Amino acid sequence: MYLVRQCQQALNDISTRHAAGLYWVPGHAGVRGNEIADKLARSGSVQRFVGPEPFLGVCRQNIRRKMKLWMEKQHLALWHGPCSTQRQARELISVPDLAIRARLLSFNRTQTKVVIGLRTGHSTLRRHQYVMGLSNNPTCGKCGTGEETSGHILCKCEALASLRHAHLLFGP
Ligand SMILES: [Zn+2]
Repeated sequence: MYLVRQCQQALNDISTRHAAGLYWVPGHAGVRGNEIADKLARSGSVQRFVGPEPFLGVCRQNIRRKMKLWMEKQHLALWHGPCSTQRQARELISVPDLAIRARLLSFNRTQTKVVIGLRTGHSTLRRHQYVMGLSNNPTCGKCGTGEETSGHILCKCEALASLRHAHLLFGP
C-alpha cells in the first residue's frame, strides 16, 4: 500500500510539470519504457531488503485474512467445545453465520429483542422464567407437554403447529 501511495505521489508530482497518463502496453514487445521498467524490477527483486525490521514479505490483506480464519476456527472450537454453555442457543444456532447477522442488524430494536430472545433462550418463555426463579412451572402453557423453550415453541409444540406451518415453512 505504501508503494502504491509513493507511485501515486510520484505521478502527481510529474503531472504538475508534464502531461502524464497511464497506458497499457504489451509486455516483452520492445516498448522502450516497459523494457526499462522490467529491467529495474528485475534488479530490484535481487537486492537485499532495506527498511524497518522485522521484515515480513506478507501483505496486510493476507495477514487480515489469516487472522479472520484463525478467529473463526477458535470461535467454532469454543462454540462446539465441551466447556461451551448456552445450550438453547446452540440448539438453534449451529454455526456463526454472517448472513443471519446482517439480517438481525436490519431489524428494529423490538424485533431484534424477540429474535435474540428466541435464539438464546433468554426470553419470557416459561423455561427461562423457571430457571430465573420467576415461575414455578416450566411446562409449555400452550400444549402442556414439554418445557416451554425456544426449540419447543419453534419446532415441536403441537398447539402451534398450524402457526408454525403458516409462518415458518411458507412465510415470506
Ligand atoms: Zn407446547
